[in-house]
Amino acid sequence: METHPAPDAIQPAEILAERDFLEQQLHAVQRVAQVGVWSIRPPSTLISWSDEACRILGFVHKNDGHADEIACLATIHPDDRQTFDAAIEQARLESVSPQVEFRIVRPDGQVRHIHMQGQLLRDNSGNALLYGTVKDVTEGEQSKAAVREISDRLVDALESMTDAFYTLDKDWRFTYTNKEAERLLQRPRAELLGKVIWNEFRDLTGSTLEHEFRRALEQNRATSFETVYAPLNAWKELRVFPSDEGLAVYFTDITERRLLQKMQRQSEERFKVVAKATSDIIWDWEPDRDQLWWSESMHSAFGYSPNELEDGLPSWIGRVHPDDMDRVRDSFWKAIKGDNDKWSDEYRFMRKDGSYAVMLDHAFFFRDPAGKAIRVIGSFVDITERRQAERDRQQAEARNRMQASLLDKAQDAISVTGMDSRINFWNKGAERLFGWTADEAIGKSKACLLIITHDEFSQAYREVLAHGEWTGDIRKRRKDGSILIVESRLTLVRDDDGMPQAVLEIETDISQRKEAERRIEELAFFDPLTRLPNRRLVLDRLQHALATSGRTRRAGALLFIDLDNFKSLNDTVGHDKGDMLLQQVARRLEACVPRKSDTVARLGGDEFVVMLEDLSGKPEDAAAQAEIIAEMILAAFKRPYQLDGHEHHTTASIGVTLFDNRIGNIDEMLKQADLAMYQAKASGRNAIRFFDPGMQTLVSARVQLEADLRLALLRHEFLLHYQRQTDSSGNTVGAEALLRWRHPERGLISPALFIPLAEETGLILRLGQWVLETACTQLARWATMPATAHLTVAVNVSPRQFRQPEFVEQVLTVLADTGANPAYLKLELTEGLLVANVENVAAKMTALKAKGVGFSLDDFGTGYSSLAYLKGLPLDQLKIDQSFVRYVLTDSNDAAIARTIVALGQTLGLDVIAEGVETQGQRDFLEMNGCHVYQGFLFSQPVPAEHF
Ligand code: C2E
Ligand code: CA
Ligand code: CA
Repeated sequence: METHPAPDAIQPAEILAERDFLEQQLHAVQRVAQVGVWSIRPPSTLISWSDEACRILGFVHKNDGHADEIACLATIHPDDRQTFDAAIEQARLESVSPQVEFRIVRPDGQVRHIHMQGQLLRDNSGNALLYGTVKDVTEGEQSKAAVREISDRLVDALESMTDAFYTLDKDWRFTYTNKEAERLLQRPRAELLGKVIWNEFRDLTGSTLEHEFRRALEQNRATSFETVYAPLNAWKELRVFPSDEGLAVYFTDITERRLLQKMQRQSEERFKVVAKATSDIIWDWEPDRDQLWWSESMHSAFGYSPNELEDGLPSWIGRVHPDDMDRVRDSFWKAIKGDNDKWSDEYRFMRKDGSYAVMLDHAFFFRDPAGKAIRVIGSFVDITERRQAERDRQQAEARNRMQASLLDKAQDAISVTGMDSRINFWNKGAERLFGWTADEAIGKSKACLLIITHDEFSQAYREVLAHGEWTGDIRKRRKDGSILIVESRLTLVRDDDGMPQAVLEIETDISQRKEAERRIEELAFFDPLTRLPNRRLVLDRLQHALATSGRTRRAGALLFIDLDNFKSLNDTVGHDKGDMLLQQVARRLEACVPRKSDTVARLGGDEFVVMLEDLSGKPEDAAAQAEIIAEMILAAFKRPYQLDGHEHHTTASIGVTLFDNRIGNIDEMLKQADLAMYQAKASGRNAIRFFDPGMQTLVSARVQLEADLRLALLRHEFLLHYQRQTDSSGNTVGAEALLRWRHPERGLISPALFIPLAEETGLILRLGQWVLETACTQLARWATMPATAHLTVAVNVSPRQFRQPEFVEQVLTVLADTGANPAYLKLELTEGLLVANVENVAAKMTALKAKGVGFSLDDFGTGYSSLAYLKGLPLDQLKIDQSFVRYVLTDSNDAAIARTIVALGQTLGLDVIAEGVETQGQRDFLEMNGCHVYQGFLFSQPVPAEHF
């Protein structure tokens, strides 16, 4: 059994006051009305009586009730005794409420008229108990009515009280119970009245209740307490008031209230547990007291320990980010003042370390019936990461969108295939290339859509899965069924965990590039009019033929053929006819040399060359074989030509030179054949002449030159000139270093003359080194001056020089020694150099490129091998050879070459520079066709650095 102080300070105070008041009122009423209260067990056992009853009946109130009983009844006037007993008896028998008037004889002998009114109650065994009021009515009849009224009211008041109420006399006997008490005690009052409480409710013995009751009586002090009322096993709240007569006890069943309290406590505990268990921060605010409670996660999440948080709302709002504070405060107050039961907001909240977390705050308002918020409970979720992730995702999406749109702008077809081999990205380039729209392609299997040869495709995919990359040419099918060759680059895309996620494929249509290559080759190596090899090609073949001849010990012959009087034909019958003649001549020449190994070429104008290979190793025999062919040619030419209905006759002069491995230089050979041809012309045309060694005198001068060249370096006869390189706005962007030889007797000698010689003799190695050093020194000097600091210097590198194993090392050493910035050095390489041993060349270029050195491809267009190698090399620039620039305005063929080179440069992402630009017209043409850097006499001659 436990006792509890009243949990709520308001109710007891009020009720106490009310009870006190009733109590006092009861006494007051008795006194004022002069009405006494008593109870009698019929026929005449007096059980209890109030102070006033004592006074009226004129005896002293003693604890000894028995004595008083006798004394009391003894005071009834003997004449009225019968009436009194009869009334009681009648009440008992008929269960009516008695009303009787009788006289008493007071101890002092005075006779008083007493009016008694009562109520008869029965206990369980049917014994009656009379409870009634006594009133001295001696004073007059009028008082009778008053007594009745007041007594009625009193009883009514007690009966109608919602609290249970009983009174005990000082001997612990029940003297009164009201209806509610009957109900709560679950005993009829007739059964209780006059009974000793401890006997009736034995369970109470030793209980708090007994203890409290006895204390109240002994100390004459009111008390109130809560207890489990054992007999009923229910919670009761009891208020006990002592009086002279005993105790008045009010009690209420509070089982329900206790239950509610218990539930509330439980839910409160549950709330705290939840608050502890969740990683969210829970807060609980009582607006009236401004008490703000934070759950413990406030510590783990933000670093605040409970004792360092201010009381009340400032601990919250004071940590909201200044930019969010006003808004949050406003919205919170608006919500709390309104009639919402919820509020939420997102804002930044300061951690202990001063950083801010993004919080999502949800609050619930508990309101009293008037709508005033009395408690606010909130949950506080850190969504910093979520928001960051959202931001990251949005950024990634934006990036993806941007990339996708960039990818759409790319020329190349770009597609992404998932590991299920379904297409999941398909750019505009892919739409263009293959004809399938993104809608049609995405989700389809790439193999089904595009692939022709499955082996090729699966090989490529195996490669990419194994090595992450694959590059190669592959045949694909377009939507329209046509086949194309693409250069494909496959890259394996991995996810964050390194697992293969997709394959990115970039495909370039190389049919166009192949076509451009073919066209350049054709333009560059074939004469468009006659479709014969041109000068370039024949020179190249000559070079090969010389080399072959050296190996096979078989001789060759070069026939230089020039039509007689062609110029006059051109002038008289017009160029059209002239062209027709040249075409027919070409066919007849070809008919004369059916062997595969022989070459017919047009050098230009009316000059043709026939190169015969695999002739006899004996010079005389070889000469005879060559002469037979020459005679055949003259004979073939003699037949008339049909030129658009006109018959025409022409003859030719032929110069022949034989070659074998002893003759190393093709320029020399051409010169010999040319000389012989002039001899033939001089002899009266329509003739054949063989080269006479006597004609050689001029050529042999080179022997002397070679000797001089060896001394030139020692004698410091070399110097470098610089030729300006200009952009379309006329700004100088760089210079090409060009070697000059100041010969003591012959003055300046062209590098075109001595470079080949230097190559042959190996002198080029020292010479090249000197050029590199001198140019880099100049570069370093220019770097120190604002006007020239931006200039690049292009240095020509000869093949032999480049092929040295230590070439890279040399260049880097020179750069380091001179302090020149590698990024401003550009090496000019020729195509011939690049073709042989491509991997080695690429490795060297890449090594230098890594240090910043740039590369320009010199004399571009004059080499004739496939351009495929260009892709693989780290080139920066293509230099259109001056031979194309020279006739760019007059020769549509050269113009086409120049344009194609620019286009090729754009496809490969290379700059294009034109050399040999001599006229404004050439410059404008180039500019118009997309070439924006120029070099040539139009801008400047090559000049010494001091004049630059
Ligand atoms: P290249 O590399 O093609 O140099 C361009 C040549 O064209 C230079 O001849 C230059 O003077 C000349 N040139 C420049 N503008 C014009 C113009 O508007 N019209 C004409 N017709 N020609 C112009 P250069 O200086 O006689 O050099 C001839 C060749 O000698 C160079 O041809 C290059 O292959 C070689 N060469 C010159 N210097 C060096 C060098 O330091 N090392 C090596 N290995 N070769 C060099
Ligand atoms: Ca050059
Ligand atoms: Ca050149």
